[in-house]
Amino acid sequence: MNKKRLSFAIALLTLLITYAQKPIKSSSSEIYESVQKLNFLGSVLYVAAHPDDENTRLIAYMSNHLKARTAYLSLTRGDGGQNLIGSDIRELLGVLRTQELLAARRVDGGEQLFTRANDFGYSKHPDETFEIWDKDMVLSDVVLAIRTFQPDIIINRFDHRSPGTTHGHHTGSAMLSVEAFELANDKTAFPEQLDRTTAWQPKRLFFNTSHWFYGGQDKFDAADKSDMISFDIGTFYPLKGMSNNEVAAIARSQHLCQGFGNLTQRGTQKEYVEFLKGDPLKDNDNIFEGIDTTWNRIKGGQAIGEILYAVEKDFNFKNPSEHIPQLVKTYQLLQKVDNEHWKNQKSKELIHIIEMCAGLYLEASAETNWATPSEAVKINIEVLNRSDIPMRLLSFETSEKLNVSKNIDLKNNIKYNFEEVLNIKENQQPTTPYWLNKKGSLGMYHVDNKDLIGLPETPRAYEVKFNLLINNVPVSISKEVVQRYSEPDKGELYRPFEIIPEASASITEKVIIFNSDSKRNIQVIVKAGHDNLKGSVEIEHPEGWQVFPKSQPVSIIHKGEEQSFNFTITPPKNGNEGYISPVVFVGNQAYNKELIEIDYSHIPKQTVILPNETKVVRLDIQKKGKHIAYIQGAGDVVPESLEQIGYEVQFLTPAEISAESLSHFDAVVVGIRAYNTLDDLQFKQQTLFDFVAQGGNMIVQYNTSHRLKVDNIAPYKLTLSRDRVTDENAKVRFLSPKHPVLNYPNKITQKDFEGWTQERGLYFPNGWGKEFTPILEIHDKKESDKKGSLLVAKYGKGYYIYTGLSFFREFPSGVSGAYRLFANMLSLGKEDLNQTEK
Ligand SMILES: [Zn+2]
Repeated sequence: MNKKRLSFAIALLTLLITYAQKPIKSSSSEIYESVQKLNFLGSVLYVAAHPDDENTRLIAYMSNHLKARTAYLSLTRGDGGQNLIGSDIRELLGVLRTQELLAARRVDGGEQLFTRANDFGYSKHPDETFEIWDKDMVLSDVVLAIRTFQPDIIINRFDHRSPGTTHGHHTGSAMLSVEAFELANDKTAFPEQLDRTTAWQPKRLFFNTSHWFYGGQDKFDAADKSDMISFDIGTFYPLKGMSNNEVAAIARSQHLCQGFGNLTQRGTQKEYVEFLKGDPLKDNDNIFEGIDTTWNRIKGGQAIGEILYAVEKDFNFKNPSEHIPQLVKTYQLLQKVDNEHWKNQKSKELIHIIEMCAGLYLEASAETNWATPSEAVKINIEVLNRSDIPMRLLSFETSEKLNVSKNIDLKNNIKYNFEEVLNIKENQQPTTPYWLNKKGSLGMYHVDNKDLIGLPETPRAYEVKFNLLINNVPVSISKEVVQRYSEPDKGELYRPFEIIPEASASITEKVIIFNSDSKRNIQVIVKAGHDNLKGSVEIEHPEGWQVFPKSQPVSIIHKGEEQSFNFTITPPKNGNEGYISPVVFVGNQAYNKELIEIDYSHIPKQTVILPNETKVVRLDIQKKGKHIAYIQGAGDVVPESLEQIGYEVQFLTPAEISAESLSHFDAVVVGIRAYNTLDDLQFKQQTLFDFVAQGGNMIVQYNTSHRLKVDNIAPYKLTLSRDRVTDENAKVRFLSPKHPVLNYPNKITQKDFEGWTQERGLYFPNGWGKEFTPILEIHDKKESDKKGSLLVAKYGKGYYIYTGLSFFREFPSGVSGAYRLFANMLSLGKEDLNQTEK
């Protein structure tokens, strides 16, 4: 085994887990808790699938009560969910949720790990999940996490024995954990990992069960618990002035984009884990039974333990610096230990404790938060010892270019500042989430550098290493370069120091729909990474499309400034689609990426550099009618999409719905979950039905049967269910091929169901009156026929249409078939009106 590479991987892992730009300023009680943790040599790995799956009560308990090194392995970064606090979705949501997990871990004391699996959306069964994920690759990443973190105990959030009862990613995470538990110590399994890690057998595997898995508290109370261990996760921590469940609630409240901001909880509360595999327990009150969690666990540890247990026992809360001689002595002893894993982990903890005990303040702050390759950046270095311990700053260094010898004695509370210049390397890669560097598949991120696999974040490119002599013992401490600055209305702030490309470009719209062959204006925004950016900008486009002008000169004076450029784009005569992207040429370099900032107050600001692509679609579409009323429910971009194809859309609130107001429209479209979110819509049902009776069309998109605020969602019998089709490629069968909705004015064919995204639809009705005509049959693999995705009924002179098809997802993705089908729905009954528009 290559020890250097192993320690590199571990160093990276541990370094990243403590990421937070703001320096940690610890009180005596926090230092004392760190000493207690230093003296516990045991670890727990918690395994689940998504950001928010993790039980923060248990993670907080393992980390703060048992003092175990605890990590949460989230197989995915949660790209597939919804964002309640901003517009970042998909991969950008994954970046936000990664940071929310890190914020949660900073509260509950855990660490954070990932695999390369992508949260591709809802999956009913682990079989489907494993088809879309590369199962072997995800398993390999779980094995890698176990070999790197070396947990004694693994706890699964989900039950591996119940596929099909929850999200396929959930059960899948537990199934992979069970498999990995058996494989991690098998040197023939994923042997390529063994040059940077080592085979490892965790002692025990548990499942974090609860009444939820038993279908109710009564059933769980009655269940046999002889294989379970329980913990009082409401235990009170006087050193924190908070109980464990209060800590856990604050950690969970970091998941703000999922709306988990919540009240804290107090009081005794039980949490259970069920034994699954490994060494059986003799008595069920110690999860670490039979594992030596003292310093005696490692060869050479006894002498270290003797000193450190004394520090813990006689801890000086008034003057923790008194312990520094003992701490640096154990640091020296630890360097002689030949167990690389413990040496690295405990050295890191020890250095941090020494730093806190000495009130040692080390900082490297850049004058800017952005720099481009080859740039020279001023950095301010601050060094301050706030103890009477003899301390000497020998030198500091950054990357290869700077090694500044100082030899200064650091007297108590005498501050030293140094100005230095950091030369950014010419070939320095921009800082961006490593898992988004290259296009992955639907189910997996693509990561070229295998040293990065599992890490929560990309390692920062620049740090300053301070070489010190503390009580005559050489100790090196590294700090990432950050930017410290202030804002009048916020006070002191910290930002990560990022490397960005010298030019970036974007087109704001992700999809542009053309319903005729007339040209359109589009705007390209170019951003300068440095002062005096000079070059040109062009738009790459598919064949058959025309862009004017071909090229425009770019000249931007200030770093960070944006300039916009207008182009016109003309689509081909007939139906066609493709992608356009802006490119900036500077010298002989071409830049085609967009710089995206993710900025929320509860996470450090993130910079993401992604390819900028806009889908352009020339629709082959006919439509009837023009004026649409839209009743917005939970929120969707269907109105904007309908406007893109030439409809005039006006929003109506329930209060604005009246026979008179409706008389101006050809159709009323009801947005997703409107009957779940609008209390007053129930009072307007009859008015809407009367509008249909008079010849209007009413299209209702999906609602959930739970919390439905209306008794009669349709003018005829209609029962909503939880039926959904998650496979976006599921075969579509035409039940009523002659029905006008499939024929007029657009002839709908199988081709219109190609290229759909994420899913076919959700919450289809499973019962309806004979007045309804079911149009389509779609179902997921191994499931029965589902005929409720599109139901059409004549009511008086007009049509009532209920559809769970996911138009709200397909429109923003530019799926032409979805537009054509929706145009037919709007055109129903208008065959004889002479107002066809192209
Ligand atoms: Zn989940």
